[in-house]
Amino acid sequence: MIKTNCCSPHRCHCGEVVNSLGHHGLSCSQSAGRIARHANINDIIRRALVTFGVPAVLEPHGLARDDGKRPDGMSLFPWKMGRPLVWDATCFDTLAPSHLPSSSCCAGSAAAAAENLKRRKYNNLVGSYIFEPFGVETLGSWSPSAHKLYLSKRLVDTSRDPRAGFYFGQKISIAIQRGNAASLLGTLPVDSDVEEFFDAIFLVCFKLVLISLELVFIIL
Ligand SMILES: [Zn+2]
Repeated sequence: MIKTNCCSPHRCHCGEVVNSLGHHGLSCSQSAGRIARHANINDIIRRALVTFGVPAVLEPHGLARDDGKRPDGMSLFPWKMGRPLVWDATCFDTLAPSHLPSSSCCAGSAAAAAENLKRRKYNNLVGSYIFEPFGVETLGSWSPSAHKLYLSKRLVDTSRDPRAGFYFGQKISIAIQRGNAASLLGTLPVDSDVEEFFDAIFLVCFKLVLISLELVFIIL
């Protein structure tokens, strides 16, 4: 995340060693923040659509892929060309070893890869729905489709607030950061003392960031 030591090396629940940079928690197969972050992002998208006059539901029935999985959400009103919006959100880790070769060269490449993956998986929806994958990264980059939804003129027009897209983007960014924090803390052994593993100065900064995120989230 930040290019400095943030914790003492320790072993994650999955068996991998977490080095002093603490990056492992962001891409761990047992990441503690992944599910909460995913739910949080989808709820923000749904509530934004409802606020802007487009009711939406999460995990709609009847739109399952071949493997039985459902997209994350669908608008109940037509979104474009008489077709409802269907979205599926995902957050890839910018620093995961599998993404690092591309993400180190081009910002947002991991999110773009996630978007392409989602488009292939939901190819069967094209024609009846407006499918928009919503890909973001742990370090904050957004996929082109997420940018399109974020910058959508319709969001601003419907709410009549020129800052509507800005607020939406802030909420998504906070959800990502909260997920990152939970992922990092989730690598610690159960019942461990957090202060044993984190540098005192980093811990103070970390707590201040969490508090500020909580305050911003309440304000928004
Ligand atoms: Zn792990």
